[in-house]
Amino acid sequence: MSSYPKTIFLLFIVSLILVSCNCNKEKDNSFAEVELETIQNRKPKNIILLIGDGMGLSQVSASQFYNDKPSNFERFPVIGLSKTSSSSDVITDSAAGATAFASGIKTYNGAIGVTSDTLAVGTIVEQISVNGIRTGLVSTSSITHATPASFYAHVKSRRMHDEIAGFLVDSEIDFFAGGGLKYFNERKDEKDLTLGLVENGFVLSTENFPKILSDKKQAILLSKDAMPKMQEGRGDFLPNATQLALEYLSKNEEGFFLMVEGSQIDWGGHDMDADYLISELIDFDNTLGVALDFAKQNGETLVIVTADHETGGFTLASDERGDYNNIKPVFSTDGHSATMVPVFAYGLGSEFFSGIYENTAIYHKMLSLFQDN
Ligand code: MG
Ligand code: ZN
Repeated sequence: MSSYPKTIFLLFIVSLILVSCNCNKEKDNSFAEVELETIQNRKPKNIILLIGDGMGLSQVSASQFYNDKPSNFERFPVIGLSKTSSSSDVITDSAAGATAFASGIKTYNGAIGVTSDTLAVGTIVEQISVNGIRTGLVSTSSITHATPASFYAHVKSRRMHDEIAGFLVDSEIDFFAGGGLKYFNERKDEKDLTLGLVENGFVLSTENFPKILSDKKQAILLSKDAMPKMQEGRGDFLPNATQLALEYLSKNEEGFFLMVEGSQIDWGGHDMDADYLISELIDFDNTLGVALDFAKQNGETLVIVTADHETGGFTLASDERGDYNNIKPVFSTDGHSATMVPVFAYGLGSEFFSGIYENTAIYHKMLSLFQDN
């Protein structure tokens, strides 16, 4: 055979393979919109990490049964599972759990941004901000609480709220919203750190969201300590603060990293209070909608949703009579559990989040997606 017909034949075979691949993708894949982007192997410019503190699979399942709106969890095409143990304990706390996401290391329960030898460890916020990437944190707890603190502070104990607030003033964070004002202006050392925030270029809001955002850094502290419960009238703080953060951060050419925490899903579990837990979970679900709508419209954003651990040993069991048509949520503990937690991903790079892996892998995946740009 001369080389000309051979080439034609090869081209014919290759196009047959390509056509059949496309057919299969379209047939099998109900999330074509996302998958088509990822097969181009493009990396995200922006990452939104949403942490439902204490949110195991039963908590996520509650969004099916207790929300009158369609669940935003069902919009994610890629699902994985994260193993949550810390270096000190089979059952982690939120400090070690968040340090795993922020710094990619296993450390002891209670540690904020430090190794098991209490040495400071670099965070993703510190590592990416040198490349001009903007960073933001939104939380329904105090902004100095374990989960957000692990992204900017380095202290040996999560209880050191005053010290943690000091780290935030001097950190690379460009936008934050949550509670915890008293750790800035009612401190043991009687310093007023709200002055330090302004000195370091923040616009500080303590009453309401700022209406018009300048290009200045934003500090939003709307409560002395934790934000109120949903049941006590928190309203749409979490979705609205997330929306505001996205508007501010996305003005940046170099991209952004935003961490959003539904902090009080965990507290509903500790209280063994299903109504508390579910109201916080639905608020978090609504917030996922804000992040996903942004990512869909933006096209250069990866959205990751996970938990640091499960809380409450929460189960959607049947009622006392064993009626399988009647769910009665129950708790097996007022603490955390060792069960794996789900990871949901949407957008560019989402394909790297399927499978079962350690919580520390979430940091390594995020950092390599930022670095490969
Ligand atoms: Mg937390
Ligand atoms: Zn907890």
